[in-house]
Amino acid sequence: MSLPYDINADLHCHSTVSDGTLPPTVVAERAHANGVRIWSLTDHDEVGGQLIARETAEELGMQYVPGVEISVTWAGQTVHIVGLQIDPLCPDLIDGLTATRSGRARRARDIGDALAAVGIDGAFEGALRYVGNPDLISRTHFARWMVDEGICDSIGEVFDRYLTQGKPGYVGHRWATLAEAVQWIRQAGGIAVMAHPGRYDYTPMQHDALFDEFKSLGGAAVEVVTGSHTPDQYRRYAEVARHYGLLASRGSDFHGPGEGRVEIGTLPPLPPSLTPVWHDW
Ligand code: AMP
Ligand code: MN
Ligand code: MN
Ligand code: MN
Repeated sequence: MSLPYDINADLHCHSTVSDGTLPPTVVAERAHANGVRIWSLTDHDEVGGQLIARETAEELGMQYVPGVEISVTWAGQTVHIVGLQIDPLCPDLIDGLTATRSGRARRARDIGDALAAVGIDGAFEGALRYVGNPDLISRTHFARWMVDEGICDSIGEVFDRYLTQGKPGYVGHRWATLAEAVQWIRQAGGIAVMAHPGRYDYTPMQHDALFDEFKSLGGAAVEVVTGSHTPDQYRRYAEVARHYGLLASRGSDFHGPGEGRVEIGTLPPLPPSLTPVWHDW
């Protein structure tokens, strides 16, 4: 029995286990309240929330999909690869994620120093107060602190002015390789999904090379309908899914109430002509 293409699936969300503001149980309740039928918690580089997410989802009557979002460096930029239907206990995956997380504390201190150099003191200690998981300090935690301090009006403004490449609080970091991320996901029995490709700033040639490499490594799906895409990008990445023979995924990338453009479980359905990543679940 395959699930319909327009089922309310939300296969990309965050909790306090990474850079979301709500604990996994509350994200599950919110997904359910918004009509989600199949749900995945995909915290950055971390599977610590998977057990409780599954338990809560199943108690509420949702189908649970174990997930993760892995940080990758490809051609000098950060790319995110979502893994769905992973075994969160797979040692290869756990070791890979542990290695991926390991540089975050050092990077966060460096971000603090870089911000201090432009007159923003105490950012590292400030950001730490917003962290739910001490292993996973993210730029988002700096951004929340800076908004609450009145340094900027919104998280988007913090990223634009301070935390993106070329800005004074940006600290380069080398994450996993694309091959590693796809391999860890596949070793854990999962499906590798190219997350929010519309957000990457590659040349057309690099863009094609990224998808060619992803496909040749065994990458199987692409996010078409995501909170990070505009409706024009839904159409563009529907074309990309068809061109590369990739399954299509849908996920809000919800981080918390009032953050980001999209509420959990409220995106439009996938275009009916695509094969959804859940077609055989
Ligand atoms: P990190 O993994 O520490 O580099 O932080 C990446 C996270 O920052 C992403 O997962 C998003 O949650 C958030 N982020 C990145 N760019 C932006 C942006 N322009 N506006 C708001 N949030 C962003
Ligand atoms: Mn995030
Ligand atoms: Mn992402
Ligand atoms: Mn995400």
